[in-house]
Order: sequence, then structure tokens, then C-alpha cells
Amino acid sequence: MEDKQLQAYKKNNALLCQFIIKLSSFYEGFSDKVDGELKTLRGHLSGTPNFSLATVSINKLNASLQHQDITLRKYSLETVSSIEEAMKQLQKIIFEDEELRSLATQELIKLNQPVADIFSIYRLYSRALQLHRVALGKHVKGVLSEEPAPKETAKSTPRQAANDDLERGSAHFYRSIFIELNQLVSSYTEKKPNDIQLLDIKKRLDQGMAHEQLLESCVVVLRMIVQDAMTEASLTGKVIQGLHTSLGKIGEDVNKSIDGSKAQFEQRTASNAELKTYIDSIEEAVSTTDSFDALKTQTQSCIKALSKTLTDTQSSDSESQTALISLLSSMQDRINKLQQQTDSYKRKIAEQVMQSKTDALTRLPNRQAYNEQLAIAYQQFQSSKKPLSIALIDIDFFKSINDKFGHSAGDKTLQLVSRAFKRHMTDDQFLARWGGEEFVVLLPDTNEKQLREKLEAIRKDLESMQLKFKQERVIITVSLGGTSFTSTDTIDLAFERADKYLYQAKRNGRNQVVTDIDAQK
Ligand code: GH3
Ligand code: MG
Ligand code: MG
Repeated sequence: MEDKQLQAYKKNNALLCQFIIKLSSFYEGFSDKVDGELKTLRGHLSGTPNFSLATVSINKLNASLQHQDITLRKYSLETVSSIEEAMKQLQKIIFEDEELRSLATQELIKLNQPVADIFSIYRLYSRALQLHRVALGKHVKGVLSEEPAPKETAKSTPRQAANDDLERGSAHFYRSIFIELNQLVSSYTEKKPNDIQLLDIKKRLDQGMAHEQLLESCVVVLRMIVQDAMTEASLTGKVIQGLHTSLGKIGEDVNKSIDGSKAQFEQRTASNAELKTYIDSIEEAVSTTDSFDALKTQTQSCIKALSKTLTDTQSSDSESQTALISLLSSMQDRINKLQQQTDSYKRKIAEQVMQSKTDALTRLPNRQAYNEQLAIAYQQFQSSKKPLSIALIDIDFFKSINDKFGHSAGDKTLQLVSRAFKRHMTDDQFLARWGGEEFVVLLPDTNEKQLREKLEAIRKDLESMQLKFKQERVIITVSLGGTSFTSTDTIDLAFERADKYLYQAKRNGRNQVVTDIDAQK
């Protein structure tokens, strides 16, 4: 009986240790310090567990986890890369301003340095915001008025020509902000469909916004992004806190179980000693008593005491067994709850990763997703030597759809065109929105000839598709540039070639395909 119960304790403790080991592996990656301590805890619980050292380790872990600035490294990396993206976009917009460009470059360099803690991310955010503000301030000055009427270039003086250039530059600048803001607002309205501020900005963007309002709206949306980032950070903190509490409780339960086993062992040793005393005294009575009656009386009283001790031991055994079962079942409940929490957190992270790689308007993969896919395909191309092709597609005169029928009609067109492209894609081909009205396609195992046929089929399909806006039939056409990787190509070289072909298609009159085959003619 005793052996059996000890075996049961050992088995349960081993199970518990295995569980804690698995759980601690799952939570690896929050911070080096916690990782190190979790590793130590696993060491103490592996093989023949050392519960005293494990308890020390659990206490240390509790202390580390209580510190707010511990981990969040993974989250920090994602945040830094989104700031980086925003800085790169800013750089594109301010490319003519040497001073600002150099400031943005310095910020980008800082972004590449390791992030010490969550607060340094806020500092990075605040510097990026500051730079955006300065950039907006510089470009706002003097160019906020309505776009001037076209001037007769033949009569322009050099000074007027320079002014014209500046105005064209600023118009380009506002257009870029307008597009970026539109994409940001679209993705945010999906997340927060009832946000009044966002809905107002979206409505005003659809109606056309004055430059001042456009800049104000940028600031509102940027604030929203920072706010969201902070909420996310505290959410992660809460999950860690939850883990900390649960690990602490499991640690307490392990200790309770160990203490219980010890106490029971001591009690059993005491009972055994008592039983031995009774048996000894019977033996003594047998050897020393002459009278049968006296022996009988003495033996009877010893047997009575013996039987009482045995009954007590038995009831204490069953009591402790019940206590152990209830302890294990409450631990199981806690473990199940923790499992649910971690599962839901895992799902949330997966969802966020998915969203960060999806374009909100067309639901196609975005540029980041495309770049990742291209890097994989390029590696396979280099090792397998199977052909690999890429293509760029740009909608012709798309701006006129916006101008004539409004921005919403433009958005609808982008969605319909995306759907039409998608119908041409096989499982291994990858279509993404590159930005604005430009799309990219990745075609593994596709040679020059197959590429041309595919692009021509897409072009024809678009041409035959009729849209209707405000009772007017509209035909959408696209220009396409495609190329197959050569053995000496880098990713950038092939992309630049596809881009060159696309502009060749535009120059030649649009609604056409230019690939390596056409370029060789
Ligand atoms: P081209 O044939 O030379 O390509 O002319 P285009 O008008 O298509 O090209 P341009 O680059 O002059 O204009 C692209 C326009 O696409 C400008 C911008 O307002 C619009 N645009 C970009 N992104 C979006 C979007 O998400 N929604 C809407 N409605 N319009 C967008
Ligand atoms: Mg374009
Ligand atoms: Mg276009």
C-alpha cells in the first residue's frame, strides 16, 4: 500500500514536472533573463527533479516577471519595423530635401540598433513623429493654396519654370500623403468600424480634403497608431502577468504536495514504531508471564491497541489520498485555464501577423508579404535552376477614374481588378498589391514564353471587362512588364528590368505587355 502510494506521488510529480518544462519552453523568447531562468527551472525539473532548487528558480522567475520592463522583445521588433516602414515612406516623400533626408537616414540607422526596452520604442516613435511633423511643416509653407491653373510653358521665364517645378513637387508630395493616409484609414476602419474620428476622416477623404485638413488627419491617425501600440504592449504585459501568477500557483501546489508526502511519511513511520512497540510487548509478555490468564489479558489489550493504530493509519491514508486527488484536480483546472489563455493569445498573434501582411482594401498580400515570398522563391530558383519569372501590372489612366467618379469608385475598381487578376493565378503563383494601382506577380517554374502568354491573357481579360459608374460604361486596361530571372540576376536587377518593361509598355501606348521576348525584337 505504502509503496503503491509513493509510486503514485512520484508519477504525479513527474507528470507535473513534464508539464512545467513544456510550458516554460512555450514562453521562451520574451526576454533573455526570463529565458535563462526558465532554462534553469527546466534543468532542475528534468531527470531526477530537485524541488528545492526548482522552488528557488520559481521565486526568481516570479521576481523577474513582476518587473514591467522585462520582455516584449518580439513585439518590439515588429513595432520597430513598422516605424522603419513609415520612415522609409517619409524618405521617399522628402527626397528633394537634403537636410530632412539626412535626418531620416540617421533615424533609420538608430532603428537598426538593438532596442533595450519598451520605453526606447516610445522614444523612437516620438522622434519619428517629430520628423514627420518637421517634414510636414517645411512642405506646408507656401504651398497650401489650391493648385494653380496650368501655365503656358512656352512663355515661362526660368524663375517661373523653377516655381512650376516646386509646385509639381508639392502636388506630388500631397498626392503621396493622400494615398498613404487613405490606405492607413482603410486598414484602421476595418479594425475599428465604429470609430467616429476615423469615419469622419474617411468621409472627408472621399469628398476631397484641403491640404491643412489632410495634415491634421495624418497627425490624428499617427496618434491612433501610437495609442494602439501602447494598448498592445499592456496586453502582452497582462498575459505575462497571467503566466507569472499561474506558474507561482503551480509552484505552491508542488510544494504543498511535497510537504503532504513528507508529513504522511513521518506519520506512517510513527505508526510503524507504535505497532512495533505493541508486538514487542506481546513478545515480552509471552516470554515473561507464567499465568495463562494474565498473558491472555495482556495480549488482548495489546491487540486492541494494535487494531486501533491500524484503523487510524488506514483512515489517514484514505484522507490524504482524497486530499491529493482534490489537489491534483485543482491543479489540472489551473493548467487547463492557462492553456486556454495561451491558445487565445497565440491565435491573436497569428491574426496580427496575417493582417500585417494583407492589404486592407483588396485583401491581397501586401508588399512585405511579396518580398518575403520572393526571397524564398529566389533561393529555390538558385538551388533548383527551374525558371522563375516576375511581372508588374499597372492600371492605365487610373487617376481619371478617381477624378471622374470619385475616390470610392477608384477603390471599387481596385477591388474588382484584383479579383480579375486572382482568377488567373495558379496555386504556386503569388499576386500582391505593390501599392497604389500597381500589382506584382511571382511566377515560379514559368519560362519567358509561358510568362508572356499568362500576361497577355490577363491583359485581354481586363480589356473585355466592363464596369459601370454613374450609368457610364468604363473599360479598364492595364500595362504589364514581365521578366524571367537570368543566372546572374539579383532580385533587384530582375525587378528593375520588369519595371523598365512596364514603362516601355506605357510609352508604347498602354494596354500592352512587354517582356524579355518583346525587348529582344
Ligand atoms: P498611368 O497610365 O500612367 O499609370 O496613369 P495613372 O493615372 O494610372 O497613374 P498615376 O500614377 O498618375 O496615378 C495613380 C493614381 O492612383 C493616383 C492616386 O490618387 C490613385 N490611387 C492610388 N492608390 C489609391 C487607392 O487606394 N484608392 C484610390 N481610389 N486611388 C488610389
Ligand atoms: Mg502607377
Ligand atoms: Mg497607372
